[in-house]
Amino acid sequence: MEIAALQQIVRDRYFENDNARGIYHTALWFHEEVGELSSAIARGDKENAKEEFGDVLMWMLTLANLMNVDMEEVVANYLDNPRKKLPGK
Ligand SMILES: [Mg+2]
Repeated sequence: MEIAALQQIVRDRYFENDNARGIYHTALWFHEEVGELSSAIARGDKENAKEEFGDVLMWMLTLANLMNVDMEEVVANYLDNPRKKLPGK
C-alpha cells in the first residue's frame, strides 16, 4: 500500500473527530501510543508491539493530516536527503 493511500484512509476515517479534538490533544494521544509501544518492546511482547506499531503509525498520519503534511513527500525527501544516509549506503 502506498503511503498516500494509507494517509487518505486515515483522513477519511478520523479527520473529523481528530480536527474537533485539536492537534494539541491529538499529539498527546500520539505520545501515549509511543509510550505503549516502548513498554511492549521493553517487555519483549512482540504481539502487543505489533498492535502498538499500528497505533503509532495511524496517530502519526493523523497528526500529519491535521497539519496538512503529505507524508509521501516527507518520506521521499527523507530518503533523498544525504544527511540521513549512513556512510557507504
Ligand atoms: Mg495502543
